[in-house]
Amino acid sequence: MTRTISIFGATGSIGASTLDLIRRERDKWKVVALTANGNADELASLAREFSADCAVVADEGCLSRLREGLSGTPIRAAGGEAALTEAASLPADVTVAAIVGCAGLAPTMAAIAQGRTVALANKEALVSAGEVMMAAVRASGATLLPVDSEHNAIFQCLAGNDLEHVRWITLTASGGPFRDWPAERLAHATPSEAVKHPNWSMGAKISVDSATMMNKGLEFIEAYHLFPVGTGRLRIIVHPQSIVHSMVEYRDGSTLAQLGPSDMRVPIASALAWPARMDTPCAPLDLAAIGELTFRAPDEQRFPATRLARAAAAAGGACPAVLNAANEVAVAAFLGGKLGFTRIAAQVEETLGRFAPPAPTTLAEVIAVDAEARARTREMLEPA
Ligand code: NAD
Ligand code: MG
Repeated sequence: MTRTISIFGATGSIGASTLDLIRRERDKWKVVALTANGNADELASLAREFSADCAVVADEGCLSRLREGLSGTPIRAAGGEAALTEAASLPADVTVAAIVGCAGLAPTMAAIAQGRTVALANKEALVSAGEVMMAAVRASGATLLPVDSEHNAIFQCLAGNDLEHVRWITLTASGGPFRDWPAERLAHATPSEAVKHPNWSMGAKISVDSATMMNKGLEFIEAYHLFPVGTGRLRIIVHPQSIVHSMVEYRDGSTLAQLGPSDMRVPIASALAWPARMDTPCAPLDLAAIGELTFRAPDEQRFPATRLARAAAAAGGACPAVLNAANEVAVAAFLGGKLGFTRIAAQVEETLGRFAPPAPTTLAEVIAVDAEARARTREMLEPA
């Protein structure tokens, strides 16, 4: 039996890992839509390889290039944000939401509206839309499967259990490349140092988020929505080896953990095959070779981002969307060499302190809060 699949953010790190799995069982999948931001040549080549029905570039300026790349094929080419959302409405059994940032929100919501399965990597979309997205999931009856390794681990550890028996959900964090750096050194951390993650190979934005620990902050908010046990039963622990991907402790004292290699193809495969299982080419876990698994408490003095995110989750309303938008702008400024590393979290805190809009209740309102928070953050970073 073949299943249909669309991949939003097909040219990224999660997109490539997903396509690697599909490539290994081509007879089982029919690709509907593949999308990218502006990398038209790579998108065209992927769309050709996988005989996609359509390919979409978010950046409309790249559409003519995409058309050239697809000439002589029946693959439809489209460009622009509206085309992206339209593509997310094309029926697909599984939609992989792997765009980076809040830019992925509208297509993810369109995919959710189909009421089928959405494999969610795009954590910023859920962080920003929060209740609005979860309400859409309930309304459409869609199945939202977490691809983020921690949430995929928690999802697996919760299988067959009731949330009311959960004592703790513990998100593990590698601690990022600066885990052991003294505070004084952090201020001088460069973009190239920040994107060198010790365990995972990922896109630039999430790599910087891992270095600041904002990634774990966003994941805290993500977990808060996916597994509604309340902020008081969610916690973070640093686990440098990234082998235990997260844990659930139950009221009887049993803790269930999911372990695996630091390879995103494992959680992606878990979501693609759920509730069954599929093969991956990942090396089996060799715990004897790894030797030691260690754990320590997070240091919120050096890495204040998780504190900001926990507070934003507890405050609710527009706070998580503002936190996310400010972080996206600050990370881009850092990657562009315009903002110091420790200023990223500081800027997020400043934006949160100065912009407190009412809670958004619709997708349009979430998008408006996101846009306004970005504009204000940019103004603070580059006063006119
Ligand atoms: P990436 O930067 O490697 O890829 C991002 C993809 O999104 C690309 O296809 C790009 O063309 C597209 N894109 C970028 N900006 C866009 C825009 N404005 N409009 C439309 N498309 C746009 O990112 P990634 O590392 O693959 O991460 C994707 C998402 O998955 C992020 O939300 C990230 O937090 C999450 N995630 C990634 C990993 C990982 O290991 N890479 C792990 C867990 C979660
Ligand atoms: Mg993660």
